[in-house]
Amino acid sequence: MVVNAKEQVFWTSINSVPAQYPWITENIECEVAIIGGGITAALCALRFAQAGYDTVMVGASPIGFGATSTASGMMSIDGEQAIASLVDEIGADRAMMAVGLKSQALDNIEKMCGEFDDNCGFKRMDSLRYTPDAKNASFLRREYSLRLHNKIDTELITKLNSAEQFTFPIEAGVYSKGAGAQIDPYRFVHAVVSKALGEGARIYENTAVHNIDKDNRDYLILECQRERQIRCKYAIVAAGLETEEYVKGIDRTASICTVVTEPLSDFPGWRGPCLIYSEGSPMVFLTVTPDNRIMISGLANPSVLENPYFSRLLDMIPVSERRYEQLEKKLRSMFPAIRNITVEYVYTSRNGRTEDGLPVIGKKPDDERIAYALCCGADGILYSEIASRLLLDQYEGKANREMGLFSPGREWRVLH
Ligand SMILES: Cc1cc2nc3c(=O)[nH]c(=O)nc-3n(C[C@H](O)[C@H](O)[C@H](O)COP(=O)(O)OP(=O)(O)OC[C@H]3O[C@@H](n4cnc5c(N)ncnc54)[C@H](O)[C@@H]3O)c2cc1C
Repeated sequence: MVVNAKEQVFWTSINSVPAQYPWITENIECEVAIIGGGITAALCALRFAQAGYDTVMVGASPIGFGATSTASGMMSIDGEQAIASLVDEIGADRAMMAVGLKSQALDNIEKMCGEFDDNCGFKRMDSLRYTPDAKNASFLRREYSLRLHNKIDTELITKLNSAEQFTFPIEAGVYSKGAGAQIDPYRFVHAVVSKALGEGARIYENTAVHNIDKDNRDYLILECQRERQIRCKYAIVAAGLETEEYVKGIDRTASICTVVTEPLSDFPGWRGPCLIYSEGSPMVFLTVTPDNRIMISGLANPSVLENPYFSRLLDMIPVSERRYEQLEKKLRSMFPAIRNITVEYVYTSRNGRTEDGLPVIGKKPDDERIAYALCCGADGILYSEIASRLLLDQYEGKANREMGLFSPGREWRVLH
């Protein structure tokens, strides 16, 4: 075990619970019901309430206690995959549309945090995607060219110029100015929910929805825990990875380990400090939290451990402990000039990936009254913001070209 580290989720450990919400104690009616208690449901609740719809948000656990509280809080065009990978998978036009939507989502979240009483630790940052591996270098040079010709403010980092900027080996990298940001995702989800409440949304936590009854043509009935019901015209399922049960789309899940240090005063050998994403396998993500700690995540456990049969047979704990040690070792080897690195928190949580790395947002052809927002992967927070805007547009019948990019029925999911 990493010496003296606490095995606790970082964001919920350093923050007290900002607010508690009731569970449902009676049957209720509304126009729009949003199932979920994470950042996707919260942003949807805010948008729909702001637009004047009678909105209810209902989550199975306390607000923010799903994947949202375990997210690193990094937001960037570099998240899930390189732009060049997305171009190869879905074509240049669609890929650049997705990148544009992510940049817009980042701007919108920045604006939102600027208007909240709490800025949620939001901080604009530069973003580095790099490889230490010679065989990935030409791919990142192509990434640089793509960014350059799409007017993204990017520098090429090479073996020759990396040493002045970083203390770890870089064969090639793209350094994009202001292309990312850091946030405290737990404070953010609470700030959004509080704002949604102020806009008239009704918020319930600790209330699971067991079933959506579609038998009546005029309304849906959400059957909830404790035998309560929500009668609504329209429902959005934004239940994190549980959304998969309704809409499908997850290609694979993985357990991701995270290690967080005590606060540090100085970050020599780390230009920025910027957000850092490694290219290739295994992927590692690094950031600096609003209170100046290093957070390093990655080294997903092999998928065999995600198999319920094997995970019953194998004890996961030693696997995670080994991963924490490896992450700490990696951190120390990347930043030998940073003194007094002490690990304070370690934890493991589950993330998912769709086949093309994009979220699944929208309705299925079989029912116009239910929409889905499955926003997972390293860009989940930005996708949540995009989902909230696109779903509102769709509900209001506004034509939206971008919706097709994420539609549950998209046929082009992978070109080859
Ligand atoms: C280790 C890790 C690091 C990550 N880092 C980042 C990052 O740096 N940047 C980034 O953008 N993304 C990151 N992500 C992804 C990000 O956390 C998620 O994409 C995002 O939080 C998803 O939010 P959500 O609201 O959709 O889901 P969740 O936060 O999981 O919320 C789902 C909610 O639905 C509720 N629910 C489930 N079933 C029901 C039901 N039947 N009835 C009612 N409610 C239900 C749950 O109680 C929960 O409240 C990371 C994920 C992991 C695991």
